[in-house]
Amino acid sequence: MKNYKYLLFDLDDTILDFGAAENRALEFVLESQRVDNSPGLYDRYKAINQAHWEMLERNELTKDRALAKRHEVFFGELGRSVDGAFINEMYMTQIAEHGHRMFDGALDVLRILSEAFPLYIITNGVKATQEKRLANAGINPYFQDVFISEDTGFQKPMKEFFEHVAACIDGFTPGDALIIGDSLTSDILGGINSGIDTCWYNPDAKENPFGFKADFEIRQLNELFRILGR
Ligand SMILES: [Mg+2]
Repeated sequence: MKNYKYLLFDLDDTILDFGAAENRALEFVLESQRVDNSPGLYDRYKAINQAHWEMLERNELTKDRALAKRHEVFFGELGRSVDGAFINEMYMTQIAEHGHRMFDGALDVLRILSEAFPLYIITNGVKATQEKRLANAGINPYFQDVFISEDTGFQKPMKEFFEHVAACIDGFTPGDALIIGDSLTSDILGGINSGIDTCWYNPDAKENPFGFKADFEIRQLNELFRILGR
């Protein structure tokens, strides 16, 4: 068993239930445009959103453009022409104000691990939104520091994001750290790009369609105790 010294946690869909937050925010913006919510719409939004984050990860769109365009594309499919930046503003406010529901058991895992390890957040997102959600969730005390892509100027899986993290943590060496996250394309690939071990949080037992693998895979966060020898 490897002795890890630093734990880097993704936030969305690893600790906080981002799906629930998105669902609620989407409902709100649909209503604002007088579009009835219907089965399948949320899944369609999620696919469009994911595609736009991947374009951002590949540097094909700026962040502002990606965030606005996802709504333009989504509402475009529903036959509505919208101001994406305006819709996004509304959407992000909903996420910031209400998007802090935590997964069952996550709080206990953070509390227990924080007694033995320095914990850090590594998240792709908008600074104001993520900070508000962390504060609302009441979990800031468990973390030594929070790294948000908007702040660092780079996003996961870019090597530069993790170089920034490394430079900010005293004594950090990539070989002593473990990344825990739900996203193969940002968390796991980011770790591989940066020489940091990775643990894929995969509660729904999704297939991994990529040609790379995490060092560990877990269905529940409390499986971390076994990996970390606690
Ligand atoms: Mg995530």
